[in-house]
Amino acid sequence: MKKALTIAGFDPSGGAGLQADLKVFQILGVYGLSAVAALTAQNTKGVVAVEPVSRQFLKKQLDVLMPDLIPDAVKIGMLLTEDNVKIVARIIREYSLRNVVLDPVMISSSGKRLAQRDVPKLLKEKILPLCRIITPNIHEASMLSGLKISSREEMKKAAVILKERGPDTVIITGGHLTGRAIDVVYDGSFHYLSAKKRHGEYHGTGCTFSAAITAFLAQGDSGLAAAKRAKEFMANVFQRTIGTGKGMKLFAI
Ligand code: PLP
Repeated sequence: MKKALTIAGFDPSGGAGLQADLKVFQILGVYGLSAVAALTAQNTKGVVAVEPVSRQFLKKQLDVLMPDLIPDAVKIGMLLTEDNVKIVARIIREYSLRNVVLDPVMISSSGKRLAQRDVPKLLKEKILPLCRIITPNIHEASMLSGLKISSREEMKKAAVILKERGPDTVIITGGHLTGRAIDVVYDGSFHYLSAKKRHGEYHGTGCTFSAAITAFLAQGDSGLAAAKRAKEFMANVFQRTIGTGKGMKLFAI
């Protein structure tokens, strides 16, 4: 059985962060490993509080895990502090980790900052060169590329800029633009993944998508194949959701 590691935030509601990642890994037949980089207090109405895991303890989790269980793919989600980014970059290099997927989490749908001020800059400098795939949404791609994105053409320009930083494949998710939800995939050529736009708000959409990509990479898919299969997986999970009635919907995974 292939193994995937998520380095991400702890979400008590189970809809995002490392809990969501582990559930996706499991349902897609990959053994899940996890290291926690930040704690959050949240429910379907939003993120109320965040707290980082110390640099020493994030490092300790990975230093203990890695010599024993080397993952076939790694997903990086919420890194709250600069220290967290630096440690993760070091660990990827030290253990020569492969198939690294970065979901550059910056702000929650409810508007809470999930990354401190200098994290985007550091992600760009230290993590992007080590990634196989990055999966920013339009807001995150704007922050990382410095381009203001409001059209498909601008998504393509940002993808080219971000690929120059190192990743093999850049996937900019288009769910926040009007019209169909069209993701731009750039791996040297452009590809488009199109899906029906969903109404309402869903918790953990970006986490679920990038975790699925990670699981498919762990199983040996190419970047483009993993992206296509993850988009199909999303179409399936959107069909089964749980609504508490108080906030965003959850995927019934
Ligand atoms: N909490 C954690 C730990 C996350 O990693 C993320 C997003 O990546 C969120 C919350 C935000 O989720 P959403 O904006 O989909 O509610």
